[in-house]
Amino acid sequence: MNATTERVFYFGAGPAAIPAPVKQRVQAEIMDYRGTGISIMELGHRSDAFLEIVASSTARLRALLAVPEDYRILFLPGGARAQFSLIPMNLCTSDASADYLVSGHWSAMAAREGGRYLHANVVASSESDGFNCIPPVADWQLDSKAAYVYLTSNETIKGVELHELPGDVDRPVVCDMTSSLMTRPVDVARYGLIFAATQKNLGTAGLCVVILHRELLDRSRPETPSIFNYSAQSGADSLLNTPPVISWYITDLVLQWLEDEGGLNAMAARHRERSGKLYSVIDSSGLFFNPVSPDCRSRINISFDIHNVDLRDIFLCEAEAAGLLALKGHQSVGGFRASLYNAMPDEGVEVLIDFIKSFEVRYG
Ligand code: PMP
Repeated sequence: MNATTERVFYFGAGPAAIPAPVKQRVQAEIMDYRGTGISIMELGHRSDAFLEIVASSTARLRALLAVPEDYRILFLPGGARAQFSLIPMNLCTSDASADYLVSGHWSAMAAREGGRYLHANVVASSESDGFNCIPPVADWQLDSKAAYVYLTSNETIKGVELHELPGDVDRPVVCDMTSSLMTRPVDVARYGLIFAATQKNLGTAGLCVVILHRELLDRSRPETPSIFNYSAQSGADSLLNTPPVISWYITDLVLQWLEDEGGLNAMAARHRERSGKLYSVIDSSGLFFNPVSPDCRSRINISFDIHNVDLRDIFLCEAEAAGLLALKGHQSVGGFRASLYNAMPDEGVEVLIDFIKSFEVRYG
């Protein structure tokens, strides 16, 4: 690590910052998990101690998100990308079609991958606008025969967020919420299926949370691998095979931390306020800019750039020395990106804002 300050703030997009109290708890429990005499790394996935983690993480997630009783919560291997294939395999036959809104890198990939298993109909795409906006709902070419409508709540790379669901979708809405789940309340009943990998706001990498209406179970194609079969995993409480026990344990601790922090309303207020402050500093700067259309700017991943590209490396280098880590934008777009997931303390955003202002004074 090159930072020369004592305190660092980690703006990585994922794996992302983990709340400090969670890391402290892991440190305290790593050698002896709650008096069992063994480490969490060694804990059998059928042991009572681990089954308690399964039950408590499921219950906490259900309560925090107010997931209705007729929805199942699964913890599956393979991260979020696996779902790009598993969704069509589990929800419909190969001659079906599904509607995809392409609003950025991840939904484009989901449509491409989905297209290997069904007919993926792109209802609208912002690719020709550099993925800097979301096509208006009125322009979506929805197909009444589609098996589902696929959306991405927050495009992590450009920092583009869908702030509202269209009102009149009469098919199951499937939503990739990998980078925004747990950052504000969600009306789960408006979706057929929600999924999110755990490495942003739910802990570390290793799992993908899938929340689906029970009507969508039992539709899997026969060739779907059992461990990726939603109904088989639902019947086995997501324990068909050995899960990454440590990731699941950390997710449970993160959920507990979220409860202690005041839940999703508290997170929503936190994100609204601090992303607003950061955007306003960028917008009022003569040196920095943000290309994303204001009505769909992400509260979570704030991408920005500098007009004089020669200053990019200097900015990153000085930021790192000031303890502001991983501000480099995604390799496909360059520039900068500040990922402000739940675990980012407000102080990190304040320090970043002061740094941006002082950089502008020095180089503007
Ligand atoms: N969807 C979104 C919105 C993402 O941000 C990411 C990862 N950054 C993925 C899908 C892919 O996640 P994974 O690496 O867990 O497959």
